[in-house]
Amino acid sequence: MSRPLAAIVELQTLISRLRSAEALLDGIPDWMKELHEEYSAHKSQIEELDEAVSDAAATRRQAESAVADYQEKLKHFQGQIAQVRTQREYGALLQEIDTVKEGIKTSEEEAFAAMERQDAAQSSLDEERKAFEELDRRYAVELEKWEKEKPEVQKKAEALRAEIAELRSQVPRQHLAHFERLLERHSGQALAPIREVERPKGPRIWHCGACNYRVRPQAVVEIRGQEALVECDSCKRLLHYAETAE
Ligand SMILES: [Zn+2]
Repeated sequence: MSRPLAAIVELQTLISRLRSAEALLDGIPDWMKELHEEYSAHKSQIEELDEAVSDAAATRRQAESAVADYQEKLKHFQGQIAQVRTQREYGALLQEIDTVKEGIKTSEEEAFAAMERQDAAQSSLDEERKAFEELDRRYAVELEKWEKEKPEVQKKAEALRAEIAELRSQVPRQHLAHFERLLERHSGQALAPIREVERPKGPRIWHCGACNYRVRPQAVVEIRGQEALVECDSCKRLLHYAETAE
């Protein structure tokens, strides 16, 4: 093929379109983004509160079971009082009883604090859930709308894949390999437009639209005249001449 650039440019356009269609199918459309963010933020807030409720409840259960254990011990020690024979044994036993009572007090305080935390988190959670209901409904409506649009996007992607396959079969193998190497290296964008530097006088100057490196005038001539495949001297993307520079 003597003018390979046009096919490569077309191929790049189709591939870029296919990639955006695929990205859209993997994600959510722009018109849903704002609601999606609001929805996700609320959802993670609810999850956090839910976790806080469970954590506090677990702490509370632990403290309550510690209280029960201490009370068992206390009963045991109190039962021993009648059996002590010496002043020293009596003193030691009282010491044990004091320690256990201290433990009961601390664990009861812990259980109470955990209960208050649990109640507070629970009421925030109830409020959040209530506030979430309306958002959840709105989100479901938009999601359904998007689900209805999806097959259209899928069809478009299918058509693009077919077009790309057809076009690839028309591009000479070595050009295609070159293009695909660049496509991979530059995350899906193998081409760079040539941009003319605007200046009131003096010789015309061009640069690469991707990396800004100067493009030799000879390269511009080859690209415009013969549609040759010419790489940018710096970023190595294939240069093409866009008639209407954006
Ligand atoms: Zn460049």
